[in-house]
Amino acid sequence: MRRAGVIVAETLRALRKMVAPGVSTLELDAYAEKTIRSAGAYPTFKGYRGFPASICASVNDEVVHGIPSTRQLREGDIIKIDCGATLDGYVGDAAITVSVGNVNPEIEKLMQVTRDSLFCAVQQMVPGNRLYDVSYAVQKHVEENGFSVVRDFCGHGIGQRMHEDPQVPNYGRPGTGLKLKEGLVLAIEPMVNVGTHEVNILPDGWTVKTKDGKPSCHFEHTIAVTEDGPVVLTAGEDGEVAL
Ligand code: MG
Ligand code: MG
Repeated sequence: MRRAGVIVAETLRALRKMVAPGVSTLELDAYAEKTIRSAGAYPTFKGYRGFPASICASVNDEVVHGIPSTRQLREGDIIKIDCGATLDGYVGDAAITVSVGNVNPEIEKLMQVTRDSLFCAVQQMVPGNRLYDVSYAVQKHVEENGFSVVRDFCGHGIGQRMHEDPQVPNYGRPGTGLKLKEGLVLAIEPMVNVGTHEVNILPDGWTVKTKDGKPSCHFEHTIAVTEDGPVVLTAGEDGEVAL
């Protein structure tokens, strides 16, 4: 899983550098597919329940699951890139939000709060803690900062399949839920909105958008519970945890 995670991390690292005004989300997708395949892995998203691309590319008020298209990025946009790779039967899954040029201060704050909420969650991933300690860590940090967590979509267990039990909501009651044990691997993925937590799914059957049209942010890592503490499997080859 670590090797699959490195491929995801290095792909996202390269995509981040490509993000610029005028670049289309389809170009990012093509680059991701090429990179993942040339590393000997398979782009997990491609064909997953019929999803047509290798990354999800969601812009501004699109929360997750955006389909890459000829849409060109513009100065002031934010793009969420979600990427998965399967290597030798094991999956890595991670997502980043990248700003296109300068973005307004509220969006800067949204991105920082979402990043930090993921790290709050990671710190809870130690043996003996409960699943909703992880969930609550996200919710607490986000709501203290005046934003809201999406409730209709959540993180998940991950291993030989991308989506395994348990589901990992970004809200919950601390001290409850599954007891975390060594070897459990979760994809933690806060989806954080400036306004309402409510979302709609577009007629394409995939793209999730905020109901109020306000921006949304998403970061994700695949993380293992170990006796030495949480290990981010979607860190780069050099161990750097990119957010
Ligand atoms: Mg993902
Ligand atoms: Mg995921």
